[in-house]
Amino acid sequence: MVMPAAGILRRSAVPSKTEAAVDAKGAIWRPSPNFGSRRDGLTPTLVVIHYTAMNNAEAALDRLCDAAAEVSAHYLIGPDGTLWQMVREADRAWHAGAGEWHGQCDINSRSVGIELDNRGDHPFAEPQMAALERLLPQILSRWGIASGGVIGHSDMAPGRKFDPGPRFDWERLERQNLAGGRAQGEMLVEASVGEFRRLARDEGFTSDVDDERLLDAVRLRYRPWGRGPLCREDVAAISRATLST
Ligand SMILES: [Zn+2]
Repeated sequence: MVMPAAGILRRSAVPSKTEAAVDAKGAIWRPSPNFGSRRDGLTPTLVVIHYTAMNNAEAALDRLCDAAAEVSAHYLIGPDGTLWQMVREADRAWHAGAGEWHGQCDINSRSVGIELDNRGDHPFAEPQMAALERLLPQILSRWGIASGGVIGHSDMAPGRKFDPGPRFDWERLERQNLAGGRAQGEMLVEASVGEFRRLARDEGFTSDVDDERLLDAVRLRYRPWGRGPLCREDVAAISRATLST
């Protein structure tokens, strides 16, 4: 039997399989034992989006609800839009792991985690995106989270995690104010590594990673088609300053 990690209190009983524990409209309650209390009285200020990298939703549910796996998320959305809730939003699900965003660690205590059933190598289904767009506004309003608080797993764990990956349509969420808006592309900025790192840090990418991993993470979020060494378009993608003329 896998024992809970030190300092993580496991509740004596998982909520029963009833609608009562569900926070989101229409969610199916599929309780996971893999959660604890949010630390230091923290409440969610972030939403972290993942893909499961598994073959189907049922396999993902089995794993996310397996005590031995010691992983979970608050929600899983299937390709047909089916929504499962595994951990109550008030509790700390185990989805983010090591990483940092805007200089803050313990992302699990600060976030709600949403898994999308996707292997990572194919587009996200329309009903799945539509279900995500119904779920996000509920979470954002329930906890007073700004749209800029909706991030990808790869944003907070560059080089270690790559989900929700290059197929995820961030601009679609941004247009609905369900993710932070992007810079308007200041093309006159030079492509210096120092400037790129400074701008990335301002965006929230504060994890201590090398230049290449940072570039990969920023591209995943803003221009997944980007290839090769750092270029002006990479810098422009995170340069929010407007030119004064
Ligand atoms: Zn992930």
